[in-house]
Amino acid sequence: MEKYPNENFLGKLYVFDGRVTIGFNTEDKKHKIVGKCSVCQKSADTYYDCKNLHCTNERHFISCNNCLKKNKGFCLVCS
Ligand SMILES: [Zn+2]
Ligand SMILES: [Zn+2]
Repeated sequence: MEKYPNENFLGKLYVFDGRVTIGFNTEDKKHKIVGKCSVCQKSADTYYDCKNLHCTNERHFISCNNCLKKNKGFCLVCS
C-alpha cells in the first residue's frame, strides 16, 4: 500500500475494485471520520474505485452505501 501511506490516508477503508477491503489502523485513536460522501455529502469514510476504468475523475472516491448502490459503483462524474 505504498501509494496510500497512513499519514496521508485519512479514511478508514479502501476498497479495491469492490473486491477487497483493507483496514487502515482503525484502532488508532487518531482515526476519525473525515470523509464525506461525494454524492450526498453525508459523512462517510470508505473509499471506492470507480467502476469506469477510464474514469476522468480521480477514480478513488468516498461514498456512503446508499449512493454507491444508487450509482452502481461509479463515481459522481461517471454515474
Ligand atoms: Zn451518499
Ligand atoms: Zn469515475
